[in-house]
Amino acid sequence: MMPVHMAGYSIGIDLGGTNLRAAAIDSEGNLLDKTAGATNFTEGREAVLSDIVAAIQKLRDQHGSPGLAGIGIGVPGFIRMKEGFITSSNNLPYFENFPIRDAIEQRLGARVILENDANAAALGEKWMGAGRGVDDLVMLTLGTGIGGGIISGGRVLRGFVGMAGELGHMTVVPNGNPCGCGNQGCLEKHASATAVVAMAHMMHLGENVTSKDVYDLARQPGEAGEKARVIWRIIGESLGVALATLVNTFNFPLYLLSGGMLPAWDYFAPPMIETIQRRSYTYRVTQTLIKQATLGNEAGLFGAAYLPWSEG
Ligand SMILES: [Zn+2]
Repeated sequence: MMPVHMAGYSIGIDLGGTNLRAAAIDSEGNLLDKTAGATNFTEGREAVLSDIVAAIQKLRDQHGSPGLAGIGIGVPGFIRMKEGFITSSNNLPYFENFPIRDAIEQRLGARVILENDANAAALGEKWMGAGRGVDDLVMLTLGTGIGGGIISGGRVLRGFVGMAGELGHMTVVPNGNPCGCGNQGCLEKHASATAVVAMAHMMHLGENVTSKDVYDLARQPGEAGEKARVIWRIIGESLGVALATLVNTFNFPLYLLSGGMLPAWDYFAPPMIETIQRRSYTYRVTQTLIKQATLGNEAGLFGAAYLPWSEG
């Protein structure tokens, strides 16, 4: 899907989390410039909109208007591509059903493309990370929740109202833990950092433990270490159930995992792979790869910047 000849640069914005990051990246994927500013998301629509526009303008002033191919913005929430709306964003409620894309385009006089942040991260890995040269992949971002992104034919798979790729809400335990989405047994209730911490509480591994603590514990001998290793085994099995279904569904060559739980890979990956092997015939008879993503929290920025090329 990539144009044969690309020139110039694009600007990527990552609105995820608590700050606003912006980068100018050329068509070959070289990072030209990066800015990060603390943005107070509680100050409301107009303030955040001004911050976004200012961050873009600063980069455009530095690198020039003629070479700017477009602007991609990764946001937490569902995107209605045609209308340029964000729907259902917990972090940015004041942008819901507001024409944010058109508002930014009008202020800048430049083309803007919105994308869900997990989708943008998957696209970034496809462009410059562990998915380089691969046009079909799935990425799961393991954080407090689990984000999913599906890249098919080099482009984000969005579904008919932009809600495809909500892989954190796949059921992996039929009568499992309740989830805010209304379902129970969602992947993110059984395999996220939050799930690690919840299990650590249930197993009396401490009051204020983090998933990193549970990783550190797993490397220790003794009873606490054994409990921590059990937690990572359960996490791996839950991920394996989800990945087996994804492998069966897509028959893609590559599935990536990213996020703050990756340091514990050596503990959760073996039971994860075993589970996929047991549950997926497609996996057993193909050379399907399950790998760690490589861009970390830069993935969303790269993916956002890639949007003007992939959607061009
Ligand atoms: Zn759910």
